[in-house]
Amino acid sequence: MRICNLASGSKGNCTFIESKHTKILVDIGKPFPYIFSTLGELSVAPEQIDAILITHEHIDHIKGVTKFARSYNTPIYAHMSIKEILYHQIKVDPNLFIFYENDFIIGDLHIQPFPIPHDSKCCVGYKISEEDAVVSICTDLGQFNDDTFEVIKTSALVYLEANYDPEMLMAYPNYPPFLKRRINSNHGHLSNLSCAKAIERLYKSGTRLVVLSHISEHSNTTNLAVGTVANYLESKGIIPNQHIKLDIAHQEHRGTIFRITPTSQKF
Ligand SMILES: [Zn+2]
Ligand SMILES: [Zn+2]
Repeated sequence: MRICNLASGSKGNCTFIESKHTKILVDIGKPFPYIFSTLGELSVAPEQIDAILITHEHIDHIKGVTKFARSYNTPIYAHMSIKEILYHQIKVDPNLFIFYENDFIIGDLHIQPFPIPHDSKCCVGYKISEEDAVVSICTDLGQFNDDTFEVIKTSALVYLEANYDPEMLMAYPNYPPFLKRRINSNHGHLSNLSCAKAIERLYKSGTRLVVLSHISEHSNTTNLAVGTVANYLESKGIIPNQHIKLDIAHQEHRGTIFRITPTSQKF
């Protein structure tokens, strides 16, 4: 499986995943020209995309879906409970929508959506498998709970949210108190430390590659996110780049291209 985050953050999210016979995007929260050029960097034409998967209806995840799906008649997969909202927000032929309630298959990819407690109408993460190669996308969390862990614990690669540093969040002058409370709640986003604790659990269950994702530009920095996670893991005897590889997803350019195979766990 080849996988690359094209963008991650409050200005837009999109992740490309390719198996032997299938190519999909998870969310399109960036304008079409950006998606076109980042796919081009991977030598992928937009018409080759077999499906768009939606995690939730927030604008940073769906902004570019209408233009893309209209241009290429790309099927859009989303959870049944956001059907009405998406009909309203994504102006495409309704026949392009495929609403699911359970696991589903696209080509040779098995897709397992799982609910996460973010404060949208319905927010899911995705565990995506090509045979025994497993990747999970898990951002816009609020809380990393046991249910989420149980679903994604067999993943070789996890895109996991490290959204904010609590001190920076509280000090940021342009967010009203209610927004700070929302971000900091179990239905908002995941802090760097909460992310670190989640990675500790994932490491113990076999995950060897984590991409810190959806990093806030106002209440976090990439250095702070990586530093907080690395310090916490080291305090638990888990040494980054020796025991587990940490990477970063960016907001303005694509991230690292990974190739995940059934043996990728053995980092
Ligand atoms: Zn969201
Ligand atoms: Zn988001």
